[in-house]
Amino acid sequence: MAASDSPLSVLLEDPSKSALMSDVDGTLCRIVDRPDQARVPVRARESLETLADHLALVACITGRPSPVARKMVGAEKITYFGNHGLSFIKPGQEKPTVVIEGEEAERARKFVRDNDNPFWVTSKIRIEDKGPIQALHWRGAGHRTEEMVRIIADHAQSAGLATHWGRKVLELRPPGMEGKAGAVDELLDGTDIETVVFAGDDRTDFDAAARLKKLADEGKLKNLLLVAIDSDEGPPELIEMADLVVAEPEEWIDLIEDFAAGFSEAPVEAPQPGAPQPE
Ligand SMILES: [Mg+2]
Repeated sequence: MAASDSPLSVLLEDPSKSALMSDVDGTLCRIVDRPDQARVPVRARESLETLADHLALVACITGRPSPVARKMVGAEKITYFGNHGLSFIKPGQEKPTVVIEGEEAERARKFVRDNDNPFWVTSKIRIEDKGPIQALHWRGAGHRTEEMVRIIADHAQSAGLATHWGRKVLELRPPGMEGKAGAVDELLDGTDIETVVFAGDDRTDFDAAARLKKLADEGKLKNLLLVAIDSDEGPPELIEMADLVVAEPEEWIDLIEDFAAGFSEAPVEAPQPGAPQPE
């Protein structure tokens, strides 16, 4: 496919003022029971690297810590905004830049340390330590576990933490976080980017999508294409808001791959002797 035929061709209007932003889990790879076993296909990495050579910005915005996301996706030339907007790592940087620090950054971890007990394990609650954010996963467990997680959420809120529900995951976050909407602001701040393609699958992505939509409505973005990856667990609002809905991560990767291939395709080959000439 030529890049100009792609739904992403809006990025060609002025690549130097265009950004592609993508979530990772459920968007660039399938959700699996154990987050450490999720795999991003190599073709996604290669396509993102190609696009990084041509666009003003290519970024992954994810709930995972940014160095973990970089390792997982593997593309060196792109920016990773991790922890739902709490830290980012740019190409060439060794360490992430943390947006919040100190006591607030430790609050969720302290809550888990103070409240974790054997029932969590027997209820199949798995804790993912994302630094300032602590994620409680219960994929594969039953309704009873979900009820227990709801009680933990109430308790966490009483302890001053913000709670955020995703696909079979509860995140405990420091209060006052803007999540992925804050990440979008930070990525666009001080740039002259006027076209954004954004893709995601979950509630946190809806926050980012809604912020981008607001910027577009205010005329701060000229073009916006919102892509949603459909799932039974994702928020209907994201699907409703999206300009384009795809059924699974592979379809989103297909779009990126086909579009990136348009940049690397050789110019039209010289016709072979004896071959029919184009009219
Ligand atoms: Mg996701």
